[in-house]
Amino acid sequence: MTSLSPILKQATPVVVDHALGSWIYATDGQEYLDFTTGIGVTSTGHCHPKVVAAAREQVGKIIHAQYTTVMHKPLLELTEKLGEVLPAGLDSVFYANSGSEAVEAAIRLARMATGRPNIVVFQGGFHGRTVAAASLTTAGTKFSAGYAPLMAGVHMSAFPYAYRYGWDEATAVEFALKELDYLLKTRTAPNDTAAFLIEPALGDGGYLPTPPAFMEGLRERADRHGIKLIFDEVQAGVGRTGRFWGHQHSSASPDILITAKGIASGFPISAIAASTETMSKAWPGSQGGTYGGNAAAAAAGVATLGVIEEEGLVENARIRGDQLQAGLKEIQARFPAIGDVRGIGLMQGIEFTAADGSPDAATAASVQQATTKQKLLTLTCGPESNVVRLIPALVATENEIEAGLSRFEAAVGAVVG
Ligand code: PMP
Repeated sequence: MTSLSPILKQATPVVVDHALGSWIYATDGQEYLDFTTGIGVTSTGHCHPKVVAAAREQVGKIIHAQYTTVMHKPLLELTEKLGEVLPAGLDSVFYANSGSEAVEAAIRLARMATGRPNIVVFQGGFHGRTVAAASLTTAGTKFSAGYAPLMAGVHMSAFPYAYRYGWDEATAVEFALKELDYLLKTRTAPNDTAAFLIEPALGDGGYLPTPPAFMEGLRERADRHGIKLIFDEVQAGVGRTGRFWGHQHSSASPDILITAKGIASGFPISAIAASTETMSKAWPGSQGGTYGGNAAAAAAGVATLGVIEEEGLVENARIRGDQLQAGLKEIQARFPAIGDVRGIGLMQGIEFTAADGSPDAATAASVQQATTKQKLLTLTCGPESNVVRLIPALVATENEIEAGLSRFEAAVGAVVG
């Protein structure tokens, strides 16, 4: 009998029958509060009626209208809608299917636009699993081990992870910017550096918001050296952090922006945005792909952006995120095993540490398993695998957040209480 490959590491034993909003209904009749949202994808909740209706309608019209062969209406509409939310100056967009593909596309664009080879990434960043994306990923060696030789021309600089260093944020930012300046003097000269690539909040690398002062320091250096600043908004974008884009917590704006995941509530589509001037420096035909900008996915994307606007979901993410973080901090006060609670909006991480402050992956893993028993779905993350991350849908209600908090507390209590 054929079975699914053990290569896929399964976080829970749940088999889904159907799902709605923040809830997953399993084939065995159990109901789960979903604080994973398919790793930050089902932004408008599972099967939002408007997203379902838009995709259904589109499937009846045309499913695949290969966008470099014939253009289709949903993609034109999605591009127009994205134009309403993209940072000023990023007036040109193209599409792929996944975050990894979009990351590769952005790197390719930056190299072509600058004529320079090297990319600087920041420690703990996650950008995907294809060769190029894995080469850019420093969220744990598990993403690149056994995969060598990786793509050349990638250099890693420090990330201002204040908690890990035991510093305040300003000290961590000052340190990380100094390390970057040193990297540009010792390893990759500005004239050889095409781009800085960063997540506005580290996702798989530990749910760490990138300090605004660091984002602004990158912008200043990118301007000074003619380096493209790329923001990977795949996980932190589309309302998740309580602003439409994660980078909007700072005054820094990107030269290239990558979005995927939440943009279409579960349909596979990603987008790469830049100025027309930057895009014009790459050859026509150097980017694109068979499935990029799929019509049903684009229709779901248009509906998703509509729902986010109509239902005030960015604001909801901010309010519910504050509620979630405040509740988690109360739980932290009761359990010394929780070393840190941090995050932004509906992207919250709980870092488990041993008595001596060292990372405690075993406890984080046990808590994650225990939440499933409490009928709350969660995931772990971080290079040390000692962070439990909570990623509720942007439609989460006050009661759902409360329910999630009490289930989470019960799970922690069952493991370390
Ligand atoms: N960038 C970031 C910030 C991500 O969180 C992810 C996925 N977790 C990716 C890129 C890769 O996306 P995908 O899995 O769709 O290839």
